[in-house]
Amino acid sequence: MTTLSSDQLLAIHAATQKLLPDAINFLTELVRIDTRNPPGNNYRKIVELIGNKLQSFGYDVKYVLLTPEETDELAPHGEKLERINVIGVLPPSASSTSGKIIHFNGHVDVVHEGDISRWNFDPFGGEVKNGKIYGRGVSDMKGGIAAQIYAIETLSAAGLKLRGTIEQSAVVDEESTGIRNAGMGYLVEKGYITKEKTTAVIITEPLNSGNVCCGHRGTIWGDIIFYGKSSHGSMPALGVNAVQNCAKFITIATEELSVLHETKRDPKVIPVEAQKASLAFTVIQGGTNTNSVPDICKVSFDRRLVPGESLDQARSEIHSILQRLASEDSNFKYKYEERYAVEPVWVDPEQPLSCIIRNAIQTVTGIESGVVCSPGSDDQRFVVQGAGLEACIIYGPGNIKNVHCYDEELSLEDLRIAIEVMAIGTAELVGLE
Ligand SMILES: [Zn+2]
Repeated sequence: MTTLSSDQLLAIHAATQKLLPDAINFLTELVRIDTRNPPGNNYRKIVELIGNKLQSFGYDVKYVLLTPEETDELAPHGEKLERINVIGVLPPSASSTSGKIIHFNGHVDVVHEGDISRWNFDPFGGEVKNGKIYGRGVSDMKGGIAAQIYAIETLSAAGLKLRGTIEQSAVVDEESTGIRNAGMGYLVEKGYITKEKTTAVIITEPLNSGNVCCGHRGTIWGDIIFYGKSSHGSMPALGVNAVQNCAKFITIATEELSVLHETKRDPKVIPVEAQKASLAFTVIQGGTNTNSVPDICKVSFDRRLVPGESLDQARSEIHSILQRLASEDSNFKYKYEERYAVEPVWVDPEQPLSCIIRNAIQTVTGIESGVVCSPGSDDQRFVVQGAGLEACIIYGPGNIKNVHCYDEELSLEDLRIAIEVMAIGTAELVGLE
């Protein structure tokens, strides 16, 4: 399985235990910086904290700052706050090099804490209790950033010299999605990660430390606007009721597509509730007053695609129902609009990168690694679809079920396991002296 000697494995294991308190302290510092997005608070503060840490570990550090024009274009939700990312490059410590470059990536932004009264811990406190750390972003994904940095520091503490280059990036605006964005999307567009240069990318999102995640589902977010004709509510026959046309579409689409989506399942998606393709109608706006027939009604929808489906197929399912209803009724008028769309991502789970991390999981935990697909989209799409680099997986500490929720937590043992897995995996990927 592993090509490392038992002495090397023991040294790595001992180093993870020695460095874990430092990794926890660093994670606490990260959590204490409020980086809620939107709008994207304190990005400079957090990327400088990470940059300084990388510099202290011997990395060459570069900050990638967007211009105000780029910020307006790529982060329209960002209230003109600064968008800045950091990249650290650690040259090989061995005398002979393998020429390989492994890039670790995490996002610094977090989602809002929600109703503060429902937290039992300070969301920006990083409190440690009973073997867990609590706070917004401990799992998604400041824990991953701490793990990716301390995995490499573990190898150095174990006295092992790497034959390849390590890159670490911490980026903004993952949580705000976008076909393009100011974080990982921007780094890919600017050529910091390329198919030609980069050997492999590991994004340390929380898909459970016992799993290698090889992809994510696709998404379409859009609106359908129904147009009618207003009339007095006492004479509805004189008008065309846009709310009723909207309701008719929702009813028919839900009935017909839920049957179809039953057949579109991917058992690799976690959690199990996300294994099916789905269409959810999420917001309705229509009508102005009780005694007027509404002439406009808008419904927002969230369509999730499993690997194997395509955006074009998913769109045509919706369009064919709309077109049929319009052909049956000349008063059924609508407009279809999309705000965000991304194809599902799935990379080969048998590729070397994935096999090496799966083996490392087995070495550390004694349990066979899972191969999973993420329910939502993440920055993997920029690397796989944007840069065309297939050697990109998700691996990090934390449980996907325990993110974006109250009392977000991360088990400290899970953090340590992820550090050890990535340390062993990196040694295998780039080679040791
Ligand atoms: Zn995340």
